[in-house]
Amino acid sequence: MDIAQTSTAPHCCDSMRAYVEHEDGIIYWWPKFHEYLISVHDGGSSGILIRFCPWCGTQLPESSRDAFFDACESSINELEETEANQEAS
Ligand SMILES: [Zn+2]
Repeated sequence: MDIAQTSTAPHCCDSMRAYVEHEDGIIYWWPKFHEYLISVHDGGSSGILIRFCPWCGTQLPESSRDAFFDACESSINELEETEANQEAS
């Protein structure tokens, strides 16, 4: 895991920070979507999204995954509309 990513993240408590930075990757912090994931040891990179810190109980940041894909979708829709308008004219 990239140390630069984890050290700048606003983790709620020292326990969270320690587990996120733990070499076994018990908790993953995914800055792109503001998500904390409990690692699933299935040989892949699966994780279970958590909404509250297991140690201090702080509500974790809202995942931006939906907002991200909504933004992608509206960009695609705009592109399609633009193309449709171009074809119509
Ligand atoms: Zn915490």
